[in-house]
Amino acid sequence: MRLRFVWQILPAFFFLILLTLLLLTWLFARNLSNFYLEETAAGLEARARLAAFQITDSFALDHSGRLDELSIRLGKETGTRFTFILPSGAVLADSLEAPERMENHALRPEIAIALTGTIGQATRYSNTVHKNMMYVAIPVQNQDHLLGVVRAALPVTTIDQALGIVYRQIIVSGMVVMLIATLIGTYISRRISRPLEEMRRGAERFARGELTERLRVRGSEEIAALATAMNTTAYELDQRMRTVVRQHNEQEAVLASMVEGVLAVDTSERIIRINRAAAALIGVTPEEVKGRGIQEAIRKADLQRFVRRALSARDPVEGDIVLHGTEDLYLQAHGSPLRGESGQELGALIVLNDVTRLRRLENVRRDFVANVSHELKTPITAIKGFVETLQEGAIKDPDSATQFLDIMMRQADRLNDIIDDLLILARIEQDSDQGDLPLTEMSLINVIESAVQACASMAAEKQIHIEPFCPTTLKARINAPLLEQALVNLLTNAIKYSQQEGRILIEASRSDSTITISVRDWGCGIDKVHLPRLFERFYRADKARSRKLGGTGLGLAIVKHIAQAHGGEVTVTSSLGAGSTFSLQLPARTQQHQASLPSAVPTTPSTLPPAED
Ligand code: ADP
Repeated sequence: MRLRFVWQILPAFFFLILLTLLLLTWLFARNLSNFYLEETAAGLEARARLAAFQITDSFALDHSGRLDELSIRLGKETGTRFTFILPSGAVLADSLEAPERMENHALRPEIAIALTGTIGQATRYSNTVHKNMMYVAIPVQNQDHLLGVVRAALPVTTIDQALGIVYRQIIVSGMVVMLIATLIGTYISRRISRPLEEMRRGAERFARGELTERLRVRGSEEIAALATAMNTTAYELDQRMRTVVRQHNEQEAVLASMVEGVLAVDTSERIIRINRAAAALIGVTPEEVKGRGIQEAIRKADLQRFVRRALSARDPVEGDIVLHGTEDLYLQAHGSPLRGESGQELGALIVLNDVTRLRRLENVRRDFVANVSHELKTPITAIKGFVETLQEGAIKDPDSATQFLDIMMRQADRLNDIIDDLLILARIEQDSDQGDLPLTEMSLINVIESAVQACASMAAEKQIHIEPFCPTTLKARINAPLLEQALVNLLTNAIKYSQQEGRILIEASRSDSTITISVRDWGCGIDKVHLPRLFERFYRADKARSRKLGGTGLGLAIVKHIAQAHGGEVTVTSSLGAGSTFSLQLPARTQQHQASLPSAVPTTPSTLPPAED
């Protein structure tokens, strides 16, 4: 149990005071009683001598009557008991008692000494007077002849009374001193403990992290020095904490701003750090997984395996991870061991790069190459087949030969169309990539009319009526030849997929920030399932019909790229049997239009697609 400061001081105070009082009392009492006894002894001796002087002549048995009278008178006048004793020890006279009733005194210690010729002294309880008495006996001599002994005696109780008074006074003053000592002790302990208490509260504040507060430097030198030392400690601690917090914030800022996902685990696979990018990739929040084991926090088998590999490896490791989910994520992972200052293993650091886009791009490229090859191969195979047939003798049959050559011509035209469309696409992409697609503010009506004009003969063939609607004042920043190409593609499709004598509406309008040019037909329409992929290269909703009508499957992809090159987009609404509406949305009033790129990879060769369609 901890005692309060005051309870540690006061017992010591009391002990010291008590010790001092006892010592002083003892010394004082001893000296006082010594002095008193010496004085009494000296007085008794003087009185005995005076008495002896008066009786030297008559110190014999036959003078006992006179001596008795003398002793009583002396005793009364001096308040002292006198006894005259013969050398035999027989009592000759006594001031308080009849001598015949008194026994032989030769063996009383003081008498025995006096009988030897020196002064005898003794203090003891007297049965005669029932008091503590001091006896002084002197020998009475007449020319070396011992006549007897004169003894004077006084009670010594007065000394006890005197000492009793002294003791009482000492006890009373001792109590007063103790009271004063208590007050002083309490005051001193308060003076010492109050600043200490203050310091304790200060230290508790420091412990709570309130390090900017300072302790008051006051009190004794030692306490003031302690307060100064604690203030210095708090200052140092505050500085260090600030540095640590700053460094931590900097690290957090660096980690947070990194595009790469960063994940740090300790040797027991517990997540120490995870940045937002990593958490987003994995599909968690940093708060929910921090401090937890990777096995339970992140249920991605590939990632767990990689973390284990990075932890067990001595050197950096690399690997590909697929995180399966609604959409698979492809990650490139780098893992390196984390080591402390002295080289001890702390865990591993894993950096994750999202390469899903690149992977998709690679897939698209692969698909594209496969598609192009396939598209080119079909007419080439056909041409080759007819050439072989001709070689094998059909050439000799003019009718068949003409027919075959016509087919070969059509196939060659098809090849040509595909290559033309591919070149158009490549050129748009290249111009967009380099950002030098020229855009000029101009009237839309001219472009629309040119497109309608270009399709007029094709429409006429199917007796289709094209109705253009466009305010004459409507202007936009466009690349006229490209926009015309896009509209021609849309009109061509509308004609191709409409019935005879059909109707096509081409209309331009403007809302706040968008100019919309829509091409509407009432033809065969497109099934919903095809709509999301309709603008991909070589995607055909109705393959047979498209081939039959000489489509390349690239028309809508070109429209999409032209729209994107203008910073706009193309959309479609359609339902099977009810016709379709394709809408080109272009930004209106762009101050400084930069041809925006269809999601492009700068290094992509123009003959290959830059991104997913
Ligand atoms: P194609 O050269 O085959 O027409 P496009 O890229 O122009 O290729 O069109 C892709 C596919 O979209 C076509 O194969 C066709 O099935 C469908 N399509 C395009 N426009 C229309 C339309 N107006 N009505 C119905 N289907 C259409």
